[in-house]
Amino acid sequence: MGRILIIEDEEKIARFIELELKYEGYEVEKAFNGRDGLELVKTHPFDLVLLDIMLPGLNGIEVLRRIRQFSDLPVILLTARDAVVDKVTGLDGGADDYITKPFAIEELLARIRATLRKKNVDSVIKTSSELVLGALRLDPMKREVHVNEDLVHLTKREFDLLHYLLENKNIVVNRETILQQIWGYDFTGETNAVDVYIRYLRAKIEEPFGLKLLYTVRGVGYVIKDE
Ligand code: CA
Repeated sequence: MGRILIIEDEEKIARFIELELKYEGYEVEKAFNGRDGLELVKTHPFDLVLLDIMLPGLNGIEVLRRIRQFSDLPVILLTARDAVVDKVTGLDGGADDYITKPFAIEELLARIRATLRKKNVDSVIKTSSELVLGALRLDPMKREVHVNEDLVHLTKREFDLLHYLLENKNIVVNRETILQQIWGYDFTGETNAVDVYIRYLRAKIEEPFGLKLLYTVRGVGYVIKDE
């Protein structure tokens, strides 16, 4: 099934999640602060981390940043209600998903399944070959993007979005499909997350190079194409 690490300082919540996950057949470890959690990630193989943002000492965002320095292990953030800044910072920092407390355990289980599924899909994609569109090259294996000869640094989410658009080049993809493919579940009511990330991409792969590749199709979604 998979090994899951819970990093959560509220021990009652951590124990509750642990029981539910074990009941579902997952192996579970717990850490009650960021430092212990980080140490476990470094020393044990996990398939996924549930990471609370509000931790004493080393907070969740910082733990995530340190994990991403050496690992692309899937991370789902546990955030407080309406902490929009946390969500954006977390997703930019390379979180795979987040869930807002308090949550229904069924929702958490669904997010975990979706994230683990997506990890498996990613590992298949990683074996495929380079995607090229004009001056833009994306190497799924190395997870690198070049425009002309310049290496462009993208966050995990930006990379996945660009990768998906390139796989569908010249095809208009709608926001909901993008959300399902890249965010991995139905992101009801927050489809503007796609628009935000398209803006990030434009600022990185178009504007510095004077290129036009990403097109908005009003009321539908986006298409990547070379004029
Ligand atoms: Ca907490």
